[in-house]
Amino acid sequence: MTEVEGKSCIAIVGGGLVGALAACFLAKRGHQVVIYEYRSDIRMEKSRGQSINLALSFRGREALKAIGLENILVKYHGTCMRGRMLHDKDGNLKEVLYDSVKGNCIYSVNRRYLNVVLLDAAEKYPQVQLNFNRKLVEADLEKGKIKFLNTNTGATEDAEADLIIGADGAHSTVRKIMARRPLFNCAQTYIEHGYVELSVACNEHNKFAMSGNNLHIWPRGEFMMTSLPNEDCTFTGNLFAPFYVFEKLKTREALLSFYTEHFPDLLRLIGEEKLVEQFFEKEPQTLISIKCKPYHVGKTAVIVGDAAHAMVPFYAQGMNAGFEDILVLDELMERYDSNFAKILPKFSELRCDNGHAICDLAMYNYTEMRDLVMKKSFLFRKFLDKVLFTLVPNFWIPLYFAVQFTRMNFRECIAHKEWQDKVLRMSLYLAFLIFAVLTIPFLRNGM
Ligand SMILES: Cc1cc2nc3c(=O)[nH]c(=O)nc-3n(C[C@H](O)[C@H](O)[C@H](O)COP(=O)(O)OP(=O)(O)OC[C@H]3O[C@@H](n4cnc5c(N)ncnc54)[C@H](O)[C@@H]3O)c2cc1C
Repeated sequence: MTEVEGKSCIAIVGGGLVGALAACFLAKRGHQVVIYEYRSDIRMEKSRGQSINLALSFRGREALKAIGLENILVKYHGTCMRGRMLHDKDGNLKEVLYDSVKGNCIYSVNRRYLNVVLLDAAEKYPQVQLNFNRKLVEADLEKGKIKFLNTNTGATEDAEADLIIGADGAHSTVRKIMARRPLFNCAQTYIEHGYVELSVACNEHNKFAMSGNNLHIWPRGEFMMTSLPNEDCTFTGNLFAPFYVFEKLKTREALLSFYTEHFPDLLRLIGEEKLVEQFFEKEPQTLISIKCKPYHVGKTAVIVGDAAHAMVPFYAQGMNAGFEDILVLDELMERYDSNFAKILPKFSELRCDNGHAICDLAMYNYTEMRDLVMKKSFLFRKFLDKVLFTLVPNFWIPLYFAVQFTRMNFRECIAHKEWQDKVLRMSLYLAFLIFAVLTIPFLRNGM
């Protein structure tokens, strides 16, 4: 790779969704980029990897738009999900639109396809080099020195870069190396719930077996099933449940009786044999949430995406927030003329608290999805949000809308929800007082 004057040599550890996107942005700015990816080239193999589809929303779309990939992923290969479709135990359905005022929807996209499109796009830049089967094993983050294991040959290889970007996912090695440093805080939380992935085939007419424009949810209090539509009219979903529930589902009989009791409509759609086959194919997967600070080391290293803020998947924001990291990094590159000494501290300042906030929101949304969505108080609140958002759309922005359809800072999204809660509580209190003041004289006269 030839050096270009005034441009930096940047090593990206991890060629997943966020790493591949980062390569496109950096190459567009003329930097020399080398991606080091642990796995072999997914474009050459058939492996599915984790979760087959993902919900793409505004933050992610904005990043894809900036590198000219929004249309191919959203318009041509995305499946619009306009709201949640709630399934109760009796098979009754209730649709709750994500945005009944402006009509926005989120898009189900195939994870593997998205990664392939991003790798192809990165590779089109002559200044991008993709190295697969390279596992980062050690790094001197201040000096920009990195050591990899070549998993094809078993040899270790050294490399140097002006900037190291850790986009190596939830179990990031770059983050672990950062954690050896003083003043680096990191908290990891495994929730006590795991997930198993299941799919629903298309119907006999090769069409969707349920509404193809919804994210389907079967909320059951402590656990839930979800399902997202795919381009080929199938659905892929997950059973999210506490591990002690999975412990009870070790036999075919236990599994079928669990699905007969809690998800009878879904059992009919998947079919007994397919359910048993898919469910026992893999052990339930764990879910981790990571909050750390700062995201950078001096002017030579930074972590992005899940490496910086892995979160539970219930707000469907992991990838979207990771893509937004790259947008923010790019905005800072523009503002500070690619001066990493200024960019990286500013990046930490802007993104750390934001990352912590979306991790909290994602945890909260699990309770909402598996439990609150069936409660009358929750639906009443949604109704009030809708009315107020229709009347004063620039003032009353519902939490879900702010997270999915704007680029409002996640901490601000939480603050918005908190003052809205306060306003509603006060209004209800006032309404009750007025009602009491008006009705007491009538009651007295009547007595
Ligand atoms: C069940 C589930 C559903 C989800 N649904 C959604 C959703 O609907 N919407 C959404 O926005 N997000 C969703 N997410 C989150 C999303 O998957 C992640 O946020 C996203 O994949 C993060 O991308 P990343 O590139 O940071 O990390 P990853 O996708 O994990 O990529 C990291 C890459 O780094 C490589 N790597 C790891 N270690 C090394 C090493 N030592 N050396 C070199 N390379 C290495 C890995 O092989 C991998 O390719 C979901 C997650 C799960 C688990």
